[in-house]
Amino acid sequence: MINTFLFLLMHRTSLSIFNTLFNTEVPRIILKADPDFTIQDYNEAYQLATYTAGKDLRGKSLWEVYDPKESGVTGTNLLLEALTKAVKENVSVFMPPFHYDIPDADGQGTVKSWWQLEIIPIPGENGTPEFLLTTTYNITQTVLNKEALEQVTLSEKQLNEELATSNEELAAINEELSSTVEELTTAQDNLFQINGKLESRVAERTKALSDTESSLRSLVMSAHYPLMILRGREWVIEIANQPLVNLWDKTITGVTGRPLMEILPEIEDQPFPGFLRQVYDSGVGYGQEEQIFHYNSPDGPATKYVSFYYDPMFDNQGQVCGIIVAADDITEKVRSRQLLEQSYKDQKELNDRISTINEELAATNEELSASNEELVNSKRELELNIKNLAESEARFRSLITQAPVGICVIRASDLMIMDVNNNYLQLVGKPLGEMQNRTIWEAVPEAAANYAPVMNTVITTGEVFIANEHELILIRNGVPEHVFIDFVYEPVKDASGNVNSIMVVGIDVSDKVLSRKNIADIEERIRLAVEAAEIGTFDHDIINDTIVTSERCDAIFGFDSPGSRNDVLNSFHPDDKAMSDAAREEAYRTGKMYYDTRLIYPDGSIHWVRINGRVYHDEDEKPVRVLGTVLDITEFKRLQQQKDDFISIASHELRTPLTSLKASLQLLERVKDKPQATMVPRLIEQSSRSMNKISDLVDDLLNVSHMNEGQAKLNKSLFTISTMLNDCCTHVRAMGDYNLIFEGDHELKVFADEHRIDQVVVNFVNNAVKYAPDSLEIYLKVEKRGDMVRIEVRDSGPGIPAEKIPHLFDRYYRAGNAELQISGLGLGLYISAEIIKRHGGEIGVDSELSKGSTFWFTLPLEGTIDL
Ligand code: ADP
Repeated sequence: MINTFLFLLMHRTSLSIFNTLFNTEVPRIILKADPDFTIQDYNEAYQLATYTAGKDLRGKSLWEVYDPKESGVTGTNLLLEALTKAVKENVSVFMPPFHYDIPDADGQGTVKSWWQLEIIPIPGENGTPEFLLTTTYNITQTVLNKEALEQVTLSEKQLNEELATSNEELAAINEELSSTVEELTTAQDNLFQINGKLESRVAERTKALSDTESSLRSLVMSAHYPLMILRGREWVIEIANQPLVNLWDKTITGVTGRPLMEILPEIEDQPFPGFLRQVYDSGVGYGQEEQIFHYNSPDGPATKYVSFYYDPMFDNQGQVCGIIVAADDITEKVRSRQLLEQSYKDQKELNDRISTINEELAATNEELSASNEELVNSKRELELNIKNLAESEARFRSLITQAPVGICVIRASDLMIMDVNNNYLQLVGKPLGEMQNRTIWEAVPEAAANYAPVMNTVITTGEVFIANEHELILIRNGVPEHVFIDFVYEPVKDASGNVNSIMVVGIDVSDKVLSRKNIADIEERIRLAVEAAEIGTFDHDIINDTIVTSERCDAIFGFDSPGSRNDVLNSFHPDDKAMSDAAREEAYRTGKMYYDTRLIYPDGSIHWVRINGRVYHDEDEKPVRVLGTVLDITEFKRLQQQKDDFISIASHELRTPLTSLKASLQLLERVKDKPQATMVPRLIEQSSRSMNKISDLVDDLLNVSHMNEGQAKLNKSLFTISTMLNDCCTHVRAMGDYNLIFEGDHELKVFADEHRIDQVVVNFVNNAVKYAPDSLEIYLKVEKRGDMVRIEVRDSGPGIPAEKIPHLFDRYYRAGNAELQISGLGLGLYISAEIIKRHGGEIGVDSELSKGSTFWFTLPLEGTIDL
């Protein structure tokens, strides 16, 4: 199709638009606007319409292809005229139908043909027509149909005219008849004859008419393309041929005589009724190429494609009374074209897909080549890794040999020893020869029982085993040794994660463990000692002035964890702070801290503490830390005070009889040369009394000292208590001032140290005399209470205040100011209490102020106690 014309045409329009216009189902030819009307180009439809398929017409003159002689002069002239007009006037010419015969397909004869042409001039660059685009409709069939119809109509018209003429003649004859009555009779015969003729002519005419109708019917019925006649506004199907009912999938009898819309109600919404109405109303025929047609076939809704032409039929008055429908079923043609189009489309999609696949293949190729490159690189890396691995193995071996810990590498599959270093040999105490070519448990059998299962677990689970300070017995150089070992079973895995060997790393920590245990023992002992001694401890960081104290230390100081030394100093007695500072200064110099100080508790009470510490210095001899202990010595100080007081009282008590003895002795000294002197016996008696007093005091002191030293041994015997009581206190009885009255059980006996019990009773009686001098009657009572005997001494003296009673039996305790006038050491009741306690009895006093006191004690009966 690329030729000069197209080349020229491409300047004005695109090739695709041209192709669309040119290559259609409509027959088209392009002629040069030269005198010969040379054929430039034509489409396939044109060749089909002109029976020239397979012939090459290009370059030939129109008249050379269609010989004017054969085609007919009129047609040739009309064509030439139209072509010339289009060229000269440069206008489109739409030719009315014209007769123009063309050669048949094999060129042997001509085909009677009618045409309708549309000639469109295509101007050249100078504006004048250069080409003629000629659309060529072959309307032969339609014209033939129309001619046949016209022929029928014409015959019908002629018959009608003849009928009308006959009628006129009849009327004239009738006139003649009426006007000529006379002639009537005479002419009656003629009339009958004429009438007879007339009737026969009418019959002939009627027959002719019916013949015409039947020939029309047969014409329609014999047509080989779909044809029908619709009559009236109802479009009643008057005649329909077989091709037509085939088009609808109906039968001739089924449709004949019925309105179209009753047969095909489904076309109501399709264009056909509209076109029919248009032809009916305008009286102008109408045709359409390739119209889609939906209808209800016996198998359901179906679609066909048709080309059709509607021709109006006129009645006598020239009104449209019916429509001739000629149609062509082009369904197959359209379908095959659509299939072709679909196939083009599919092919295009296939092409697209193939090109996509091609692209993907190209991408895959690229990836493959990239992978290849990576593989090459990986290979290089692998070679490098192998080299590094070899170096690393060498390093690993030297590491094992030189490691400061014992290392032994064991193969997982059979537990064979692969590698072992000297430290490991030392650790297990075996020579290298005993470790080589052996399994680990052959080499160290003494550890197998405990550790073979552990090693098996490490091999199966792949999890490391870490042992801290495991205690075991190793046969080292043939001697069993108790050792502590830190060791690790480290699984060594291959690339796929399987354990292929076990690395045992071990170190002997026996010395460390034993030392730590010793330290822990010592620490525990110290802790116990400190706890037992109720010693508090503190740790003072001198640089940061922070102090850490033990619980006991806090309890002694009476505070909660002090933060600094000042917090501690706040508890000190104000008068002692300076002393504390001085002691500290001294300690920084000497390294030792030792002093006693007073604390004031929040309740105002005073407590004594002894602080003992050690000072630590840094390398510059600067004191940095004091570690020390704190001891509560309040009780110790109280006892010390009591002792001091006691010594002063004892001295005072001794001084009185000693002064008296000294005076007596001085007087005796003066009269020693005068034996008859009357004062001598009195002086001797007084000296003797003073000596007794001194002797009693000394006895008391000795008793206390014996008691304290636990030397007071009891000398027990069974004796009757009443006898003992009657015999005691002769010195009081001798005085005659007091009446000792016995009460109770005379027979009761007790197994005890009679002398000591007597001493207790004497002490009670002496006190009654001393502290209740006005109570002239003193009751001594004995009674049995359960399995004990109770002995009491009752006076009716001033009594003792309740708050003092709990302290009466304490050492050195004396109850009140009044007693200051009365001599005593505050030891009598203390010694008594000790004696009774040692006998397993109890001692106590019931007293009421101004009513008197009852001092009592109990002893177990009948010597059941044997101390
Ligand atoms: P001492 O007689 O040397 O003071 P004791 O231990 O014998 O020491 O007595 C302690 C204190 O008990 C006495 O100082 C006294 O105040 C009080 N006391 C003892 N016996 C009596 C009593 N019968 N009546 C009142 N007070 C007594």
